[in-house]
Amino acid sequence: MTILKRVSYLSNLALGFDFENYLTINEKQIVVFEIDTLNRRYLLKEGETFDDILEKSNNKYFDSKAGYLVDIKSKLQTQIEADLLLLSDIVLNSNPIDLDTIIIHELVHMLIESKNESNLELTEEAITIGGQIYKITDYHNVETTKHNLDFCKLLAQACINYNIKSKNFSTDFLASKSAMRFDIFED
Ligand SMILES: [Zn+2]
Repeated sequence: MTILKRVSYLSNLALGFDFENYLTINEKQIVVFEIDTLNRRYLLKEGETFDDILEKSNNKYFDSKAGYLVDIKSKLQTQIEADLLLLSDIVLNSNPIDLDTIIIHELVHMLIESKNESNLELTEEAITIGGQIYKITDYHNVETTKHNLDFCKLLAQACINYNIKSKNFSTDFLASKSAMRFDIFED
């Protein structure tokens, strides 16, 4: 399965959000870059290259495990309507379940940045787990990470939904923890 097929599948499964429809109604495309952590550069993984956005992105390279950019126009000075998903080689080479949880993490950023978070209704359990996850993240850095309490609650809900359907984790908390594993500083 391609990354983009996986993104679409997980968006439906975990967020109840029709990703294909989101692209269609916003008339935009999606591009996936691989973060080549050793050589500190981005590589085209899936989607089309256009308007030298790969080169422009590489001029602004920064180390990370993953990322999602809703609307690249202002960041990359382009007229192209597109979202950008970044996944590092470390993430891409992890086992399929760990790859899934990071994609879900990035999709929650997408949901918030595109102002579609009201699509995901929170249960009491998600509110509780979200609070627990928030406490063990680097919340002092929330301005940069955008992992605020609301993000953590939405992420917990997406992970609960994923775990109900996949049963990959023994608890929903562990599913959420996997999705936040690069951002947890206390254990
Ligand atoms: Zn994040």
